[in-house]
Amino acid sequence: MTGPNAVSETLYTSLTDQLPSFLSSALLQCKRLPTLPAVALNILDISRGAEATLSDYASAIEHDPALTARIMSVANSVHYLRAAQPPHTCFDATQRIGLDVTLATVLSFCLFENDHGARGRLPFWQRSITAAVAASYLAQQLCPHQSGSVFTTALLQDIGILALQTAYPGDAERLYGIENTSHQHIMQVEKRYFGCHHALVGAWLLAKWGAHDGLIHAIQHSHDGLDTEDNAALCLRVSGAIADAWLSANPADALAGVMRQLNALTPSSEWAMSGLLAHLQQTLPPLMETLGLGMPVTVDSVALLKEAQQRLFEHTLSLSARLDAQQKARETLLNDYAELQQRSRLDPLTQLANRAWLEEQLRERFRLCLTTERTMSVVFIDLDHFKVLNDRYGHQAGDQVLAHFGRMLASLIRVGDLAGRYGGEEFLVILPDEDAEGARRFAERITRRLQERPMARVDQEPLYVSVSIGVACLTDGGFGDERELIDAADQSMYFTKRSGRGGVSVYGH
Ligand code: GH3
Ligand code: MG
Ligand code: MG
Repeated sequence: MTGPNAVSETLYTSLTDQLPSFLSSALLQCKRLPTLPAVALNILDISRGAEATLSDYASAIEHDPALTARIMSVANSVHYLRAAQPPHTCFDATQRIGLDVTLATVLSFCLFENDHGARGRLPFWQRSITAAVAASYLAQQLCPHQSGSVFTTALLQDIGILALQTAYPGDAERLYGIENTSHQHIMQVEKRYFGCHHALVGAWLLAKWGAHDGLIHAIQHSHDGLDTEDNAALCLRVSGAIADAWLSANPADALAGVMRQLNALTPSSEWAMSGLLAHLQQTLPPLMETLGLGMPVTVDSVALLKEAQQRLFEHTLSLSARLDAQQKARETLLNDYAELQQRSRLDPLTQLANRAWLEEQLRERFRLCLTTERTMSVVFIDLDHFKVLNDRYGHQAGDQVLAHFGRMLASLIRVGDLAGRYGGEEFLVILPDEDAEGARRFAERITRRLQERPMARVDQEPLYVSVSIGVACLTDGGFGDERELIDAADQSMYFTKRSGRGGVSVYGH
């Protein structure tokens, strides 16, 4: 098989495959699925051509006497009969009522005038017609040549719902009968219930009818996101939301929601919202009445737009207030975190690094030295006879000594060095890029300073302390890790203790 039918056939098979199998068999077994007669399909075909004229539509309509009579009677109705002369031909009639009304009449005649449950489905048809009128208006602005096909696509975008309702009449009320449910919610429920939502079912149905593949694709993607380069698709995809807003019990809020989405999409929005709303206000009441759908709401488009803009403004304000608050909370959190982190690294009594931070830093620097072939030294300091000092002068005096010693140590190190409290009265200093001799000089500066300065005063009397220091330099041993380096410095420190305290020993020297 070749030609367009072959394409549709393939598309139909592929869409059938995309449906969950229980659903496709239920749909296929359903005897009363909506159908479109050949004349309507022909008209859908015409609407896909950019050059289609009203006369093309009129000729197609004339093939069906009942449809022709319907078009004539619409053109004769009070809403459209502005001229004294009633229309004589189908072409006169289509000219008088215009493309949108012609298409709406054809599709409504073929679809919902045969829909026996249509009375109960008024909101469905009202939404379809409203969406179609909105889509076609937008298309006039963005892609005028496609406004006919955009109208028909928008009108048929939810036809899948009809198919699902017909195939599952027992569930229809529960799924679709709830008032004021958002379309988004309906789709979520469908997805849970049927494993797909009505856009796919609608596309499948159109393929089954033998509609052209452009229409089938458009329906299948009619509910996708607004982020598209294709203007016709954009008009279609926004039309449902506009119809929902227009028919909503709270149109200003709903419209503000749509406008927010559109503004995010195109900040310099060319969407003439006021023109669109005025068009809906003017077009919908006569069209709905002509199609026997009644008019669900009377909307003052100017007041509606004003109110929606106000909502949008309020929303932006509250959004920026929320953003400000969030930013502040974030800063506070970051500051708190930085403070907490700093605190978690510090020994509170001496304000030097604590043991955990010392070890972490030492581990990192050790690794850095290995990879960059640099060196470093560590200096292990233990206060002498500190227990005796505590016992003799009290624990508080001991604390004073520790705090003062900490400050003194901090004043002796250079930028890049790290001094910390390793344990009770034990301190460790990391000296990056320092060899054993440099580290020894640094250690001797400490012992000298302690001879010069008392570390506390007890009863106005100066209290001097001495320390035993052990130095180890990375280059002086085959140290496997930073622990071995600390152990070497610790051993040297004990060597000093054993040699009478108050001095410096260097590992391996
Ligand atoms: P050595 O010369 O051999 O090092 O003798 P030492 O007394 O200094 O060593 P030892 O390890 O026997 O005692 C350490 C003492 O340090 C015991 C402990 O009470 C005291 N110390 C540990 N932490 C603190 C502290 O935070 N404040 C005070 N005041 N004393 C502490
Ligand atoms: Mg000790
Ligand atoms: Mg000690």
